[in-house]
Amino acid sequence: MRPYVVAGNWKMNTTPGQAKALAEAIGKEYPAPEIEGFGVILCPPFPMLAEVLEAVAGSLVTVGAQNMHEQDFGAFTGEVSAPMLNSLGCSHVILGHSERRQYFAESDELINAKAKQAFAHLITPIVCVGETLAHRETGATNDVIEKQVRGVLEGLDALQIRDMILAYEPVWAIGTGKTATPEQAEEVHVYIRKLVAELYDEETADALVIQYGGSVKADNAAELFAQPNVDGGLIGGASLKAEDFLAIIAAAKSRASA
Ligand code: PEP
Repeated sequence: MRPYVVAGNWKMNTTPGQAKALAEAIGKEYPAPEIEGFGVILCPPFPMLAEVLEAVAGSLVTVGAQNMHEQDFGAFTGEVSAPMLNSLGCSHVILGHSERRQYFAESDELINAKAKQAFAHLITPIVCVGETLAHRETGATNDVIEKQVRGVLEGLDALQIRDMILAYEPVWAIGTGKTATPEQAEEVHVYIRKLVAELYDEETADALVIQYGGSVKADNAAELFAQPNVDGGLIGGASLKAEDFLAIIAAAKSRASA
């Protein structure tokens, strides 16, 4: 059985006070450090990481960054490294989000290097892939997803695949209010899992957690998470409101205990 994992990507939002209040509101609903088959990750901006780590300490909630550099240290002004994130206590890092690909020209090759670096420093990568509207409308979705998946997973071993999270995030659904239908999401998740089975083996493909991301809201989370190959979600806008995010988390938790 794969776990259901919900991650909140706060992007470049929140003040320290808002970050603390939001993290405390989520952490206090899940005070036990573990619930079988279920996880919650908060990914605030870098300056809020320490605040958020402190706010959720001892709870089920873990903390991730939204990006990192592929080197350990050095003259890379403005960057943050995996050892830094690890020393703070971050368990996860989002890599290759479509906004990083679009605004910061991140390639599959770079994302792959970052994923390897995350593993080298005991941080679990949440690696994003997804097609644009033009890709979908021209029937190129599977080809684009295949190229991205092959590129970002290059050289990772089966144990790493079983440990990581892949997030399918159709670019046309991110922050647009247009959600993929549960069937559209499931179709791509199945495609990804089959590809991973070809690249590795069935067991590895079965163990890989594949989140859906793209305008997941309190009122559509349950039907998305009900799909057999959708193992939780990467949530942007709706993760900034405790009430909405808690409702999405509850939808994942009820799948985990079903
Ligand atoms: C995201 O940024 O990863 C995302 C899925 O955003 P939203 O939920 O706002 O579409």
